[in-house]
Amino acid sequence: MGVKAGIWGEKWIPIPNTFMIQTQPRFMSTTARVRELVDTDTNWWDFQCLSVNFDTEEVRAIASILISGVGNNPDVRVWRGTDFRMFFVRSAYHLAMELEHRSKLECSRRMEESEIWRECSRRMEESEIWRVLWQLQMPNSDKNVLWRGCHNILPTRDNLLKRKILTDSRCPFCGIEIEAATHILWSCPSASDVWGTREVFFQKFHSSGADFLQLVEEMYKKGDVEMLTVFARQSKNIWMRRNGVIHVEAFTNPNDLVRITNQVMVDFSQANLSTTPTVRQERMAPSSIWTKPVVGSFKINWDVGFNLDTDKFGMRIVIRDSNGRFVAAHTVP
Ligand SMILES: [Zn+2]
Repeated sequence: MGVKAGIWGEKWIPIPNTFMIQTQPRFMSTTARVRELVDTDTNWWDFQCLSVNFDTEEVRAIASILISGVGNNPDVRVWRGTDFRMFFVRSAYHLAMELEHRSKLECSRRMEESEIWRECSRRMEESEIWRVLWQLQMPNSDKNVLWRGCHNILPTRDNLLKRKILTDSRCPFCGIEIEAATHILWSCPSASDVWGTREVFFQKFHSSGADFLQLVEEMYKKGDVEMLTVFARQSKNIWMRRNGVIHVEAFTNPNDLVRITNQVMVDFSQANLSTTPTVRQERMAPSSIWTKPVVGSFKINWDVGFNLDTDKFGMRIVIRDSNGRFVAAHTVP
């Protein structure tokens, strides 16, 4: 068999709907005949030859073909709808049904594969964002809020309700929306007031989803590591302010909150003697740049922190003179 039938471009394998080999020629000529795939000693398919030239599905299909006769028997057309080479209309109907069924199976298999591929790429993107978060140039304690938000383990009212610790998941600021990470750190009016006074990037940024990890991923894609660093720092301070409101009923206005965040970032950059400051000065609001106090006076900068692990507050105060020199500092506790 296969004396005249070519391997490529002819219908000879039982794979609907083309019935033709789809694998491109690798080691054989494009004009090679099916007969060349048969081991003349055993009069059976040469599996070594099949395996290096075709994909798995095609090898299986070829192997399912029974080889009839030996040597140079002429090729014959066979009606595969019956076992005895005769054509009946009902066999055509059954064959059509079988082809349709196989076509649907093939379709769902491909859909499954594309789902797997989407899931795969999603995981690759996720692993990329984790790597980026891990490498952000800031103390790990400052990444904590971003990290917990992305893992959805920030103790928001939504999460506390799910753990049956609270019975009300509404936001402590607007009192309307559920307090999930995205809401309290980004979309709540109390947070958007803060982002509205930050860089233009944050003023124009819109997230397509409610998932916080998705928001962070989109922010990284549309922005850069620098913007993500600012986002991490500012989110931390928004979260601390939120805790301050809940625990001591003190509210820091948006401008002060941005100023505090920027000061901490500048301090961190200076402390690490970084040649590339974490915050680009030209992209910051003018009010966020630290300036020396007038001659003869001192400037006090302070920052309040909330330890997520111990649930305790802390305060840092730095005093500088009119030359910008460090005079004193105090930490509570
Ligand atoms: Zn809210």
